[in-house]
Amino acid sequence: MGHPLFDIGGRTALVTGASRGIGLALARGLREAGCTVVLNGRDRDRLDEAAARLGDDVRTAAFDVTDGASVEAGIADVEERIGPLDILVNNAGMQLRAPLLEFADADWHRVLDTNLTGAFLVGRAAARRMTERGHGKIVNICSLQSEVVRPGIAPYAAAKGALKMLTKGMCAEWGPLGVQVNGLGPGYIETELTRPLVEDEEFGAWVRGRTPAGRWGRTEDLVGGVLFLASPAADFVGGQILYVDGGMTSVL
Ligand code: NDP
Repeated sequence: MGHPLFDIGGRTALVTGASRGIGLALARGLREAGCTVVLNGRDRDRLDEAAARLGDDVRTAAFDVTDGASVEAGIADVEERIGPLDILVNNAGMQLRAPLLEFADADWHRVLDTNLTGAFLVGRAAARRMTERGHGKIVNICSLQSEVVRPGIAPYAAAKGALKMLTKGMCAEWGPLGVQVNGLGPGYIETELTRPLVEDEEFGAWVRGRTPAGRWGRTEDLVGGVLFLASPAADFVGGQILYVDGGMTSVL
C-alpha cells in the first residue's frame, strides 16, 4: 500500500481537454490512482473513443470550455450524473504560431479564450460547488511559456503567463474556503499540439540540447506532479506552479 498522504482513491476528477495528449494521460493516471474519472472535450465521438481506451468506468462530459453557458450546464450535469467533483484539472489548451505583426484578431481571441478564459469559466463553475462543500483541488495546466517566450508564440505565452497569475488569484480567494489551487507547467512534450515542432529536425535537436534531461518530455512524465498536487500531500501547497520540463526553464 502507498503512503496515505498520496491516497486519492474514491475521488471524482474532471480533466478538461482529455480526448488525447496530456489530458488523456493525466486522466489515465488519476484513474490508476483510484479516482472516478470524467473526460472533457468538444467532440463527443472522440471522447467516447478515448474513454473506451481507458476503461468501462470512465465517464465523459462534452462541452466547450470557452462557452460560459455550456460550461455551467456541463458542470451541473457532471455533478448530477456522476457526483460531487473533488478534483479539477484545467488542461484544455491550444496553440497558434505566428509573428505578432501578422497575428489576426480572431486568432488572438481563440488563444486567450481557450488557454485562459476556459480555465476561469470551468474553475469558477467547479469552485462554486467545491467551496460550498469546503474542499477540492484544482490544477491548472500552465506551460514553461508561463515563464519564458520565443518569437512566434507570444499570444500563447501571454495566456499561459496570465494563467499562472489566475492560479495564484484562485488560491488567494478559494484557499480560505478549502479549495487548493496550483498549476503544473509542462516543458516540451510530444503530443499532437507539438507535432510540427517534433517533426522539425533542427527544432527537435534544439529542445534536446537545451533540456538538462536531454530529451523531449512524454505525457506520462506529467502524471506524478498532478497526482501530488491533487493529493493530501499538497494540502499546504498553494498558488505554486510545478514545472515539469526536464529542467529547461532553469538553465540559460
Ligand atoms: P492537444 O492538442 O494534444 O490536446 C488538446 C485537448 O484539448 C484535446 O483533447 C482537445 O479536444 C481539447 N480542447 C481544445 N479546445 C477545447 C475547448 N475549447 N473545449 C474543450 N476541450 C478543448 O494538446 P496537449 O495535450 O499537447 O496539451 C494539453 C495542455 O498542455 C494544453 O493546455 C497545452 O497548452 C499544455 N501544454 C502542452 C505542452 C506540450 O508540449 N504539448 C507544453 C506546455 C503546456 P477536442 O479538440 O476534441 O475538443
